[in-house]
Formats: sequence, C-alpha cells, structure tokens
Amino acid sequence: GDLNVKVPVDTKDEYGKVAQTFNDMTFRLREAEKARRRLVADVAHELRTPLSIMQLKLENAQQTGQYVPPEMLLRLHDEVIRLGLLVEDLHVLSLAEAGRLPLDCKPLDLSARLEQVVDDVRMEAEENGLEMRFYSNTKPVTVMADARRITQVFINLLTNAIRYTPRGGKITVEIEDRVIDRNALFACVSVIDTGIGIPAEELPHLFDRFYRVEEARSRHTGGTGLGLSIAHHFVRAHGGFIRVVSEPDQGTRFTVYLPLGNDI
Ligand code: ADP
Repeated sequence: GDLNVKVPVDTKDEYGKVAQTFNDMTFRLREAEKARRRLVADVAHELRTPLSIMQLKLENAQQTGQYVPPEMLLRLHDEVIRLGLLVEDLHVLSLAEAGRLPLDCKPLDLSARLEQVVDDVRMEAEENGLEMRFYSNTKPVTVMADARRITQVFINLLTNAIRYTPRGGKITVEIEDRVIDRNALFACVSVIDTGIGIPAEELPHLFDRFYRVEEARSRHTGGTGLGLSIAHHFVRAHGGFIRVVSEPDQGTRFTVYLPLGNDI
C-alpha cells in the first residue's frame, strides 16, 4: 500500500489530534518498511555470492563427471553450515530489532556465567598466542537475564577480541557490580584486548548490521559482520547498553551495562 499519505488537518481540536496520530503512525510504518527493505537487500547481498560459488562448483563437478575429492565436499559442507548459521543469526537479529525477541529472564549469576564462558574460549585464545584473564571484584553478581542470549553476547565479544588481536596480546575480562550511570545501577562486564583497535570514524557504525572495518575485511577473518549487531540488540532487549573505547594499534574495550533493577 501507499504509505506516503499525510492528513493535512492542522487544528488543535480532536480532529487535529487524530490527524497528528495518524500521520505519526504512517511515518513509523514508513520507517519500518524501509528497515525491512534494507534487511531483505542485505540478506540477498550476503547470500548471493557464496550460493553462486557453491552452485558453480557442484554444476562443474556434475558436468565434467570428475571425481569430487572429499576435501571439496567438506568445504562445501562447511559453507552450507556457515550459511545456515548466518540465516539463523539474521532471524534472531530481526526479531531483536523489532523488539520481539523472546527472553527467558531468570536470576543469573553473571560472575559464574562469565567464568564459564572465559574457560570455554581460553583454549582458542591460547592457540592464537593470546593470554586470557578474568577479574571479578565481587561474586555473585546477580542480574535478571536470559542466560542463553547473554552468553551469546559475551561469546561474540570474546571471539572478536581473539580475532582482532595479534599473537602475543592479552585479553582481559572484568566484571563490576553496582556501577552507577545516569542515576541507575548496573552490572558491568568489560572485554579488553590489546589488538588492532578501531579508528574513531568507524565507531559510529560499529553496531550496524554487516558493518566491517576495512582492515578486518581484508584480513578474511571469517566473521559474518553480525556479531556486534546481535550483541547490541540482545543487550538492549535486557534494558542495557554497550560502550566501546578504542585506540588503533593499542586495543579495544567493550563494556556491557546490564541494569540491576533496584534504584540507588
Ligand atoms: P565480524 O563478523 O566482522 O567480526 P562484528 O559485527 O562482530 O562482525 O564486528 C564488526 C567489525 O568491528 C569487525 O569486522 C571489525 O572490523 C570490528 N571489530 C569488532 N570487534 C573488534 C575488536 N575487538 N578489535 C578491533 N576491531 C573489532
């Protein structure tokens, strides 16, 4: 339908109010429609290239009737798995963007959860020549949260820290209880790396879907460009937010703020 309608009523009476409400609604619908189109375009763009490469390889194998080496099948299979994960990520991301991500919130000991997550990625960090540390000033730190979604947030931040930090670097995870920000109380988790950093001009786009800093892109690091969008929207769904401080060639600090609910 045509969303470019606007009721030209400009009075202060009931008609004016109804007209204003109607115009606000069509404006919001237009914005939602724009967002939906962007999403569809992004998805098409992300899927097109890998799908056509797979199609070519399969058709080629079929037409030449040549023996297909198992490594090629393995690579194709990996690629199919990767695309499946991408579609799954896009699905939860679009739910979260629309504010419709189902959350199963329960009291969660952040400190214990983080310790576990850090242990889970420690191997990968060490294989990449990175030192991994975990600091907690208190425990337990209890927040109302969906353990699965929050775990995903920390995994995304930690995977990035590993990916964008050269060998010999250090990754530090810190948890702080009862941080006050704008008159509200938060539990804060920071993931700090000594990696390549992010130029200041890139920071405003960092949480955009499929956004990748040029240098990282050229490194072919195998990410999807959705990790930070997902982290951002999952944290928002919990009423929190993420801050980032970064210095090129020095490192990056992401801090997740999760509300503690009770007033100061
Ligand atoms: P990707 O799958 O590309 O890692 P993300 O959404 O997780 O996608 O991150 C977006 C971009 O932000 C990355 O491509 C990278 O350029 C930059 N980035 C994210 N985390 C870090 C970090 N810890 N250090 C440096 N750059 C980072």
